[in-house]
Amino acid sequence: MTTIAAVIFDMDDTLYPERTYAFSGFRAVVDSCADLVDDPDLAVDEMGALLDRSDRHRVFNCFVEQRGLSDDAELVQRMIQTFRTHRPTISLHRDAAALLERLRGRFALGLITDGAAVQQQAKVDALGVASLVDEIILTDELGPGLGKPHPAAFELMADRLGVTHERCVYVADNAGKDFVAPNALGWKTVQVLRDDGFYGDAVAPPGGNADHKIYTLADLDAIIAE
Ligand SMILES: [Mg+2]
Repeated sequence: MTTIAAVIFDMDDTLYPERTYAFSGFRAVVDSCADLVDDPDLAVDEMGALLDRSDRHRVFNCFVEQRGLSDDAELVQRMIQTFRTHRPTISLHRDAAALLERLRGRFALGLITDGAAVQQQAKVDALGVASLVDEIILTDELGPGLGKPHPAAFELMADRLGVTHERCVYVADNAGKDFVAPNALGWKTVQVLRDDGFYGDAVAPPGGNADHKIYTLADLDAIIAE
């Protein structure tokens, strides 16, 4: 039995609800085009409905289309830019904040997150994660093709924390891509299933199932103590 020495987290839908980031961005976008939108709250709700209904990467295209604003060819591009660069209003899941506080000082702690670096850094800043963990890797900064499921970030994290792979655990939500690399490297893996998560239904590729599934991070302590 190998003792766990390092706990590494995914960010979106693991430490905070990604949905709240989307709504924070919708608000920023609506504020930025106030001249085109007479009822801001209604517009944000409309984008929220599109988020649930359509391909979530096409929310602004659909919004512009259904509002009859599509004669402005650059509007969608401006909205995407505003969304990506806005300063998000988001906060940690309560179980995440409590867990990070409990683990601090007892384990080496890390964060590995995919997504555009500018967006992920803005989330890290908004959540105050830098003061809660020892190492943060935004996979976008490693170079093209090195996001999950590529193992580069996991190898680098173990190296930076100075721990062997079998003493690491990765906690994340998306079975579609999160667990392939850490499983292959010999990390313990834990999937947290959130009610409102975007990827709770994602199908795991071969070798991509987590060792454990939990519904709250309050249940992580028992797993890492095994
Ligand atoms: Mg995630």
